[in-house]
Amino acid sequence: MSLDIPFDNSYARLPASFYTRQAPVPVKAPRLVAFNDDLARLVGLHPSGRDDMAQIFAGNVVPDGAAPLAQLYAGHQFGQYNPQLGDGRAILLGEVIGRDGIRRDIQLKGSGRTPYSRGGDGRAWLGPVLREYVVSEAMHALGIPTTRALAAVETGETVWRDRALPGAVLTRVAASHLRVGTFQIFAARGDREALRQLTDYAIARHYPKADGPMGLLAAVRDAQARLVVRWMGVGFIHGVMNTDNMAISGETIDYGPCAFLDDYDPEKVFSSIDRMGRYAYANQPDIAVWNLAQFATALLRQLDDPESGVEEATRIVHEMPDLLRANWLTTFAAKIGITDPRPEDGALIGDLLALMAAGGADFTNTFRALAKGDARGQFADAKGFDDWAERWKARLAQEPDPGEVMAAANPAFIPRNHRIEQMIEAAVQGDYAPFERLDRVLADPFTDQPDDADLMQPPRADEVVTATFC
Ligand code: AMP
Ligand code: MG
Ligand code: MG
Repeated sequence: MSLDIPFDNSYARLPASFYTRQAPVPVKAPRLVAFNDDLARLVGLHPSGRDDMAQIFAGNVVPDGAAPLAQLYAGHQFGQYNPQLGDGRAILLGEVIGRDGIRRDIQLKGSGRTPYSRGGDGRAWLGPVLREYVVSEAMHALGIPTTRALAAVETGETVWRDRALPGAVLTRVAASHLRVGTFQIFAARGDREALRQLTDYAIARHYPKADGPMGLLAAVRDAQARLVVRWMGVGFIHGVMNTDNMAISGETIDYGPCAFLDDYDPEKVFSSIDRMGRYAYANQPDIAVWNLAQFATALLRQLDDPESGVEEATRIVHEMPDLLRANWLTTFAAKIGITDPRPEDGALIGDLLALMAAGGADFTNTFRALAKGDARGQFADAKGFDDWAERWKARLAQEPDPGEVMAAANPAFIPRNHRIEQMIEAAVQGDYAPFERLDRVLADPFTDQPDDADLMQPPRADEVVTATFC
């Protein structure tokens, strides 16, 4: 029995202090419930029978060429530094170089205890596994950098949360799993040599043009400033922007209690563990800057004299808010049909968002309707919208192709929270039809799909999801 995965591992060649070698813990009765053929092709993997793949993607069989390990990292969780995290329920099987020449990690999540599990059981239940599967694939289709989902397996074992739930393992593919927290742990330990090696590794793997630690800092700043604004543009709330969940690659990573806005509310928080609203929708840019400052602090520790780098690092971090604002203007201008925004367009966008917030307009449907000329019904204050629309039309008269720009910037379909919850409930009952439907429709989010138009609807009152859990 074999599944041909052309591993080419590099992380496993880094010093032993970077990880613990650890095989996944086998499960009782693995059953493959999802497999991503397109992604498999991209990463150069040749699928075999479903039973073989279930064994491998459950962690029961370690494929040839894998070098399984749990990665070490630390991180600021809700602002508090935690000196010891690491993969507590994930195993990096190894890396593959795809048909596009890009190196990617293949990681099992929910694959059993590791030395970094602390009190945890090392497992995941089916709900979060399917949520990450659908949402990460949807993000990819929306054009937003993200880890992706290769496979999901039910384990045939029970996982205990507040009740007995079906266990599952997700196979995740990522540009890498290097996090801000990967740097922080070596900085906190004062291990300059490890920091230097990690910096060189990250540069070689992700930003080959970057010059030294400060070059890396600037490159990560740019990538994360792009990413967070892309989230804002589709109404995405990550939910746990801890520094251990911020990928150096600039991909969205670690989908936990994430959610999408239905009605536009910049203060919105869904995550049940975010009691102070630290990671609210509109706080995400500020948090990205805070996280970058932690990254800068860690990177500096590799210098013989860290003080000597403070000025440059400070300048790089302090440029991030302007960068975020510029990206925000470009992203939201496109959503209203403007290609090369001028500073004053910010007020036009801001006034629209204020009207949307005041009347609880649906974020996705309002922008989609603007392009189609029927947004008026989304606004409680129709007169307010009419006044705004007059200014908007005057501005659009100077744009060559606003319709096309808006169509490309405003998806019809996002993974709405209530649909994700309904999909999970059905899967727990053994019905994967809603999962398969979401996966199919969300693969093409910018195209009208009239047969699936019900997936565009905001939740009815009895369907509203008020809190998300991981
Ligand atoms: P998160 O913020 O969800 O990405 O996770 C924070 C840390 O907790 C990471 O080190 C995870 O590996 C670990 N963790 C989360 N859930 C579990 C679990 N069920 N068992 C062991 N470790 C876990
Ligand atoms: Mg697919
Ligand atoms: Mg995490």
